[in-house]
Amino acid sequence: MTGRPIPLVASDDHLAHDGLVELLGGVAVPCYESPARAVAIRDALMATGRYEITAPTDHGPDPIAAVHELELIDLVEHAWADAVAAGFDGTRPLLPETFRLAAYASGMEAVSLPAARHLRLGAYCFDTATPIVAGTARAARVAVDIALTAADLVLGGAPLAYGLCRPPGHHAGSNLIGGYCFFNNAAIVAQSLVARGASRVAILDVDFHHGNGTQQIFWQRDDVFYASLHGDPAGIYPYYSGYADERGGERASGANLNLPLAPGTEGDAYLAALDTALEAIATFDPDAPLVLSLGFDTYHADPICNLALQTDDYARVGERLASLGRPVIALQEGGYAVEALGANAVALLGALDEGLGRR
Ligand SMILES: [Zn+2]
Repeated sequence: MTGRPIPLVASDDHLAHDGLVELLGGVAVPCYESPARAVAIRDALMATGRYEITAPTDHGPDPIAAVHELELIDLVEHAWADAVAAGFDGTRPLLPETFRLAAYASGMEAVSLPAARHLRLGAYCFDTATPIVAGTARAARVAVDIALTAADLVLGGAPLAYGLCRPPGHHAGSNLIGGYCFFNNAAIVAQSLVARGASRVAILDVDFHHGNGTQQIFWQRDDVFYASLHGDPAGIYPYYSGYADERGGERASGANLNLPLAPGTEGDAYLAALDTALEAIATFDPDAPLVLSLGFDTYHADPICNLALQTDDYARVGERLASLGRPVIALQEGGYAVEALGANAVALLGALDEGLGRR
């Protein structure tokens, strides 16, 4: 323990973003990405006495527009209002019903979209797990401000700041929502670091799932290195990305590192893969703080994932992250074993802070 409090950037605005229901494997289930997740993490961190709550500051729309298409931002911000204006009673979340895949318009010059945003959802969403409710747009916007405020604090000298982002972000692409994600908080932070003068930014994604959105956004960028440890997409969401041979676009070959992990992977094997990612990041040699996409769905009891980390393993992950010797902007992504989220966050962030404090 270093004595100084760790900034915990958080807001209650996420509470109104309660998706209620998602379609998982074709079955309607209560949405795993629930407000209780962030409440559990916040309460557990604050109970340690080591954290200081910091409210996010408004960074305006420009950092979001630097990463996402304006039409996507417009969709997120207005889909609910358009539905209500069209007579929707608001008793259930908005989910897409049809998907405008590339093949839909194959060989055709153009396909029109409905004017009402809620009827366009399937043109911008890749799954049935991303419900939109009345509080979604506000929560998504505030999650970005949380992430950017955490970045401000680290750039201001804090070795570690934790942004309790909800909704998460790493599945959101430049023109795509999905996987409970609307705006890509980590990508927006990485881009803002570039805008503030960094020439090499690294994002490390330790969420259980591949961050398809982050990979897509920076696919052709050799100034942003993206490394991800995740469940093997050959058997699990998001299925269509995250394979080891995806190394970046032709203008950025080698700037993308995917480390898919077999079902049941436990701590030691996980840490070995983490070391591979950290070595690659050290070689890339970022000149900005590390952006950490932090998920706890690698936990053995996570209800929708298949790795096998224990709470003690998260402390080991935190120690390893500190060994990189760089300040860390940690941004919350997934994790759905609500009863264990707090302990796992305490373990990882505490060990990370202690490790950074020793350096
Ligand atoms: Zn995840």
